[in-house]
Amino acid sequence: MTEITGITNKLLTVNVSQKSWEVKRIAESNRKTYLGGKGLGLKIYYDTFRDRLAGIDPLGEENPLIFMAGVFTGTGAVCSARFAGITKSPQTGIMITSSCGGPFGGALRTAGYDGLFISGKSESPLYIEITSDNVIFHDAEKIWGLDTEETQKVLGLSRKDGELVIGPAGENGVLYANIKSGHRFLGRGGMGAVMGSKNLKAVVVRGRTYKVRPANKKLFNKVRNRASRFIAKNEFSDKYRSFGTAFNVLPGIKAGYVPVTNFKYRTDDRFKLLSGEAMAEKYGTTSSSCIPCSIQCGHKGTFPDGTVKQIPEYETTGLWGPNIDNYDPDKIGEWNLLMNRFGLDTISTGGTVSWAMEAGEQGIRKTELRFGKTDNISKIIEDIAYRRGEGAELALGSRNLSSRYGGKDFAIQIKGLEMAAYDPRGAWGQGLSYAVANRGACHLSAFPLAMEVLFGFLNPYTTKAKAFWVDFFENFYAALNSLQTCQFTSFAYLLEPFPVHIFPDFLLKLAMQYFPAIAVRFLNFGVLNQTWESITGIKLSQKDFLRAGRRIHLLERYMNTEMGISRKDDTLPGRFLTEADTNHPVKKAVNLKPMLKTYYKRKGYDEHGRPGKKELASQGIDVAYCDRKE
Ligand code: SF4
Repeated sequence: MTEITGITNKLLTVNVSQKSWEVKRIAESNRKTYLGGKGLGLKIYYDTFRDRLAGIDPLGEENPLIFMAGVFTGTGAVCSARFAGITKSPQTGIMITSSCGGPFGGALRTAGYDGLFISGKSESPLYIEITSDNVIFHDAEKIWGLDTEETQKVLGLSRKDGELVIGPAGENGVLYANIKSGHRFLGRGGMGAVMGSKNLKAVVVRGRTYKVRPANKKLFNKVRNRASRFIAKNEFSDKYRSFGTAFNVLPGIKAGYVPVTNFKYRTDDRFKLLSGEAMAEKYGTTSSSCIPCSIQCGHKGTFPDGTVKQIPEYETTGLWGPNIDNYDPDKIGEWNLLMNRFGLDTISTGGTVSWAMEAGEQGIRKTELRFGKTDNISKIIEDIAYRRGEGAELALGSRNLSSRYGGKDFAIQIKGLEMAAYDPRGAWGQGLSYAVANRGACHLSAFPLAMEVLFGFLNPYTTKAKAFWVDFFENFYAALNSLQTCQFTSFAYLLEPFPVHIFPDFLLKLAMQYFPAIAVRFLNFGVLNQTWESITGIKLSQKDFLRAGRRIHLLERYMNTEMGISRKDDTLPGRFLTEADTNHPVKKAVNLKPMLKTYYKRKGYDEHGRPGKKELASQGIDVAYCDRKE
């Protein structure tokens, strides 16, 4: 098999209007500064539309779907099967980036491409087949209307292939439709609707033409062994391997970060019935993960009807469990499967349905949906996917619905994206992170909840040091996610290396809470920059890596401000700012204002929440300032 050393810098661009394609070069100069994956995809989007970012219609012909493999993808690096999707979101109207562990990324890399840029709109349904030297446009009339599983079956996929498919939700333009690859998803922000708007049912890459070889094999192997050792030693990696992300249920009940009754309450003991531990026992779970992965948080299990189903993630479990007053895991498994087949984001669908339940209870909108009533849920999921009856309206998401009917304080969304299953009243840093995250109410942007609750390094109910750590982790994760390695590796990579692992817990807590600027200097995440360096053959220090993360985050923020985001959007749903009295013993609402003020200062944003010219210039970001009045 022919070998590729490191990266190819080849971007395959496909226009589905003209049914044409060409291979373009990715500028070498952007490689070290934007790393790859998500970072490079944002830069490509920006360079294409820099003077008219606001004017791009997310469901219009021009809006491209960009898919980028990371430098790590296809090399066999630990937990690095992932790839990124980048586009302007029809749900939020700003940039959306999403990471997926399906086989598409590896296939793209081993077909000889680092990225794929799809633009245009076909007159009739089609699917694309990509090989290392050709792109074939197939008629998709016969498969239009199939669900994601049926579509995958008729595509005749082999082990060498990687695919992207949409279900009926994407075809019908549900604003939070997703894209499936293998059994994983580009979940958030409605990328499936963008693909559907192009009449594009599927993309298949016939991969494994090339073998991807690191530029420095000796260094690569050395760092890979170190990375595997850290993961093998790490307690949290082990818990996710044993119980999946629903391991987060039990700590959440105690800490009070779980969503109950549309986030009205933040704890409920009955949630134990849906914990990762309970599901492992009930369904006899086994691994069903992204490949390759040494953490393996994904699981499948045998349900009472004898079928083997994917076990829902923590997010799905929270939003379709206590958040709608349901404690039956069999039902969540069934709805999860339905949403996966229709191609719906389980978080946004859940958040929209729970808003409708509360709106119905308050009498501001007519509906049969009620908390605790589960017999009409399968039907409403199907109706959303096909935009039928009440589903046609729910397909617009909770922000649009609350603008139409009222009930904004309990529309649990930020910038149009429904919130993941962590109540920020149980972790104030998480509240700040949600409020300012580039893609909306995203839990993964900085995920300070891990430090506030899971590791217990920070007091969850203070504003102290939160802006510092949110800023740091935004930069860190923007870089890590641009490598397309899994974010869950970060626990092992940050906690296991010397010197952090020898620090007693009390010392770590003290340093992180009161002396964050000193504590941060002890972090050693050399595994990440050294793996990148070993593959590309380009020197990258830990400092360069973090600087790239800061640059990527800032560029995305800048693009979003050009698309209309400002300080008014950096907030939390009213419920979290005013309703302190939940059923948790600690009765406090999130004190967002002081954290936000310090955060803006750290980021170099002006009073409107826009990155200042000086800050952008210092990161080497050359901006267009489209419609901006200084
Ligand atoms: S830890 Fe989970 S999400 Fe991450 S790569 Fe492994 S299976 Fe995928």
